[in-house]
Amino acid sequence: MEIKLASKVGFCYGVERAYEKALELVDKNKKVYIYGDLVHNNEVKNELISRGVNFFYSLRELPLDSKESICIIRAHGIPKKDKKFLSEHFYKIIDLTCPIVEKVFNYAYEMQQKGYFIVAYGKKEHAEMIGLKGNIDENKIEIIKEPIPFKHNKICIITQTTMDYHNFKNFASNIAQISEYNELIIKDTICYETKIRENEAKDIAIWAEFVIIIGGKHSSNTRKLYEISKKYNENSIHIDSVNELKEQNLSKFKKIGILTGTSTPNKSINEVIEFLRRGF
Ligand code: SF4
Repeated sequence: MEIKLASKVGFCYGVERAYEKALELVDKNKKVYIYGDLVHNNEVKNELISRGVNFFYSLRELPLDSKESICIIRAHGIPKKDKKFLSEHFYKIIDLTCPIVEKVFNYAYEMQQKGYFIVAYGKKEHAEMIGLKGNIDENKIEIIKEPIPFKHNKICIITQTTMDYHNFKNFASNIAQISEYNELIIKDTICYETKIRENEAKDIAIWAEFVIIIGGKHSSNTRKLYEISKKYNENSIHIDSVNELKEQNLSKFKKIGILTGTSTPNKSINEVIEFLRRGF
């Protein structure tokens, strides 16, 4: 059997950076809290908890020992006012907002300063979009997934870093057609990690007889890889651990492709490869 692993697998740059930093701090005996989930992957979360990292999810329920603890801001970023609040209530905060996400926040801010109304292609409830809105003037931005007409002198269309490129292109050209404006800028702010993984998903799905997509069931970028793969190959499966493979009859497939989301730990990938090599 031939196994083809995508060239980009495991944590993306932003997640790896936050994960390593959290572990480095607990290894130095620091009390560490992460505000929100670092990634949508239970295995990663349980691993961090077992190594001594703590989590909290609401600013109204701060840990009792916050004044003696370090708070990590995860890769998605948070609103400015929340960051200020945390810095007032924790001994120290370490902002590990992914630099790529931060660049988008800064870009949107600069464009607003130049008079542009921001239209962001994204999910309103996604942490990154909440962070974006909270770092710029929230009255001059609309976060949407379906195009609607706008009427502004200057419009700038950007996107959540993890959205699909082709959908973004359609979205932006639709807005351009139905809106009224004097100036329009379309800026593709999708992260390169997302693009590389999505392009490869198509190639691997076409090559393989069976495709395994490894990642948390709530991870939207993993789900997207699954959708792309499924489009080109009916025999695609989304699993979050090797256990789900054990129910599959894989002996008939000679070419197996493997893709992973940006929050999938190497441990899960290695377990799948080992399982396939052992010959179920
Ligand atoms: S997907 Fe890209 S933007 Fe998002 S955390 Fe990872 S590297 Fe940063």
